[in-house]
Amino acid sequence: MTKFSPFEASYWFASAPPPPETGSLAGEKTVDVCVVGAGYTGLTTAIELARKGVSVAVLERQQIGYGGSGRNAGHCSPTFSYYELEKIRTLLGEPWAERLIRRQTRAADVAAGYIRDYDIDCEWVQNGLVIGAMRPGHVPHLRHKVESYNAAGARTRLLDRDEAITATGSPRLYGAWLHEEGAHLHPLKYARGLARAAIQEGVALYTKTSAQGCEKQGGKWKVRCENGHVLADKVIFATGAYTVDGWPKLDKTFRILPVYVCATNPLSDDARKAALPRNTSMIDGRGDFYCYKWTADNRIVASMFLMGPRGRDLDYTKRVMTDRLKWLHPQITEDVRWDYFWFGELDMQYRTVPRLYSLAPGVVGLTGLSGRGVPTGTMLGGILSDWAMGVGEQDLDLRAEPLQKAPWWMDYGPNYKLREMRFVDNVMSRRGDVELPPHP
Ligand SMILES: Cc1cc2nc3c(=O)[nH]c(=O)nc-3n(C[C@H](O)[C@H](O)[C@H](O)COP(=O)(O)OP(=O)(O)OC[C@H]3O[C@@H](n4cnc5c(N)ncnc54)[C@H](O)[C@@H]3O)c2cc1C
Repeated sequence: MTKFSPFEASYWFASAPPPPETGSLAGEKTVDVCVVGAGYTGLTTAIELARKGVSVAVLERQQIGYGGSGRNAGHCSPTFSYYELEKIRTLLGEPWAERLIRRQTRAADVAAGYIRDYDIDCEWVQNGLVIGAMRPGHVPHLRHKVESYNAAGARTRLLDRDEAITATGSPRLYGAWLHEEGAHLHPLKYARGLARAAIQEGVALYTKTSAQGCEKQGGKWKVRCENGHVLADKVIFATGAYTVDGWPKLDKTFRILPVYVCATNPLSDDARKAALPRNTSMIDGRGDFYCYKWTADNRIVASMFLMGPRGRDLDYTKRVMTDRLKWLHPQITEDVRWDYFWFGELDMQYRTVPRLYSLAPGVVGLTGLSGRGVPTGTMLGGILSDWAMGVGEQDLDLRAEPLQKAPWWMDYGPNYKLREMRFVDNVMSRRGDVELPPHP
């Protein structure tokens, strides 16, 4: 039995063309670098290395994009998921913070580069990310984001109330943060496109092939699988929230936070013109936030975190999703069905940025993307390939550290934080006499 939610339930799975043909590993394969995990992190690492003439094998225990990469909500926001840049600087220290900020805030352009270079058809739309202010008191917070991200080289601006309403079609907004480099895409098409690009670059990609263990044999690392093994000078575990086996305790470095995503039936052209008319990616900005975007075939894909009966009681959850959408966009009067509904797992760690673990000389693992994996996984290929090419630990853009189990309080921390954010926002809205959405 698998501990992960079903992969095939998603709208992405129903609408993506087939993956490139791959088989499972049988016998022995010798390469310079073995990458475990065929998500964005593993695939971009493999592409970067193969482009430099390094021989690479990628092992995937299920199918390409089986993890977060094939089932996420499709927002490519070159930002940090939770903390402000100042806090990231405190948490990481220098020079690591500045290096990671530089990578992360340019990551959407890195994705755009792969999509362009390999002609990946993944419904890429780079019309910006909007984060709304749902009460006047939230506007100064967004102004601060504009200042700090722009100082780091991003192109962002504060929209006043009228501009925010025009840009999003939602009369509920009091202002908004527009991040012009934000984008959205079809995540599974992107993952499969990256896999095609990797194969094109000469990467040996094996699916239904689980790395079961890793030992030193002669001068090389032997990665054991069901029906064979890989001999490699270096091994990279890029297995994220979906880590199973491979290296002892790597799956203890984070805690899983479940999240759900759903997609409507195709809506009318009128709805499409009224809601997010500029085809941006959108986070509504409430403490209990609602993320949504359009697909190419006129569906809204929306996501929220599980809370109370939400996520457990499907009928109630669908009602919450419809009511929030129609509250944000009263112009949508037609019936909304949620034709697809699926779950996924986030690899949360307390700093909410990825962590690179030195597992043994020549072996690293990377987990803890904490929900910002579309841009983050994409840019991590640059850092992990630097490591494999022999860039010294002091010069890498992520600090390599010994494997550390996530602290015990991470069992409760993310859920507690989500509830606190919702509570504070509800209190502040009531105090400011601002209408709350349904099911607050
Ligand atoms: C429902 C959901 C919604 C999300 N929405 C967004 C969003 O809108 N925007 C955003 O930026 N991020 C989002 N994320 C986060 C993002 O999807 C992930 O952070 C990102 O895809 C992680 O990529 P990855 O390559 O590091 O790991 P994954 O894509 O999880 O890939 C890891 C792979 O490793 C494989 N694996 C594990 N163990 C082994 C082994 N022993 N041997 C071989 N293979 C193994 C797994 O099968 C898996 O395919 C979302 C995530 C989820 C689940």
